[in-house]
Amino acid sequence: TEQYDLIIVGGGPIGLACAIEAQKKNLRYLIIEKGAIVNSIFNYPLYMTFFSTAERLEIGDIPFNCLAPKPGRQEALEYYRNIHRYFNFSIHLFEKVSEVIKQENGSFKVQTDKNFYEAANVIIATGFYDIPIKMNIKGEELPKVRHYYKEAHEYAFRNILVVGANNSSVDAALECWRKGANVTMVIRKNEINNRVKYWVKPDIENRIAEGSIKAYFESNITDIKENEVEIETPNGKVSIENDFVLALTGYKPDLAFLENMGIQLSEDELKIPVYDPETMETNVKGLFLAGVVCGGMQTHKWFIENSRIHANMIVDFITR
Ligand code: FAD
Repeated sequence: TEQYDLIIVGGGPIGLACAIEAQKKNLRYLIIEKGAIVNSIFNYPLYMTFFSTAERLEIGDIPFNCLAPKPGRQEALEYYRNIHRYFNFSIHLFEKVSEVIKQENGSFKVQTDKNFYEAANVIIATGFYDIPIKMNIKGEELPKVRHYYKEAHEYAFRNILVVGANNSSVDAALECWRKGANVTMVIRKNEINNRVKYWVKPDIENRIAEGSIKAYFESNITDIKENEVEIETPNGKVSIENDFVLALTGYKPDLAFLENMGIQLSEDELKIPVYDPETMETNVKGLFLAGVVCGGMQTHKWFIENSRIHANMIVDFITR
């Protein structure tokens, strides 16, 4: 087996930031990424705009060239690909880590779908974008129900129901409406979420106020059928015609994956993994967390600008 000082699971922005630090310190490291490089960003909606300005998405002190203050998905892909061209990482793409096992001798065995490796230290930087939070309602498994949104075109001239009132839902609702979809939103609370990008919030609120986009507040979708959906509203049940449901109800990290490698999670519904905030080391010695996976179900707490620092903290600690 191949021996490493450090294996980094996940080739997102923060996994790459960890690799940059490891490279600077001449560690023998390997990134293992189950998809393309920065696979989560690759899977974002095609025309999304980041809420962060470009310089806050930078890693390794490499400038992020961007004409507008905030980049879109395409520019971010360009940037992170160039990061790899510059640093020439040791990375395996399209290889999925299935298990990380602590061995008797203290080192880790990292099992993938293709191979296994040994490493003295492991960083888990697997993000949270791979598992959608399900609504657990009848009809959710129908192919017309989508938990990821890419672009508006196929929804044009159709009846679309968008579930949720976060950034993903609001962006999708506005985009689909502008491309000719008949859009209805179902929102659990009585308002659009406060985290919605500050320049987008008035847009959605005005579209709802003028009736261009219909919104059921304090409401829940209860049943999805081939051609209609049922919604529970404060005024009773309503049934509306429907072609597609965009259930953009959030995502969560692979908690079972973390638990299987011995990482403890908080007992409450937030399921926050146990780690030392100074070193990012979990309750398993030599096993670290980096990036947005740290938040457990609190997926809005960490983002690129406040978690890229994890890379320095971990590699400094390992090489101390
Ligand atoms: P990710 O980018 O999610 O990377 C994790 C990687 O691990 C993925 O490439 C995944 O394929 C890989 N992986 C997972 N499991 C395995 C496995 N078992 N084996 C191998 N590889 C695995 N953040 C911001 O800072 N600013 C923004 O403006 C912003 N906008 C966002 C917009 C959207 C639509 C979404 C969904 C998120 C947004 N975020 C934003 C949050 C953003 O996704 C994260 O900040 C950023 O991607 C986190 O980087 P990360 O490296 O921690 O995780």
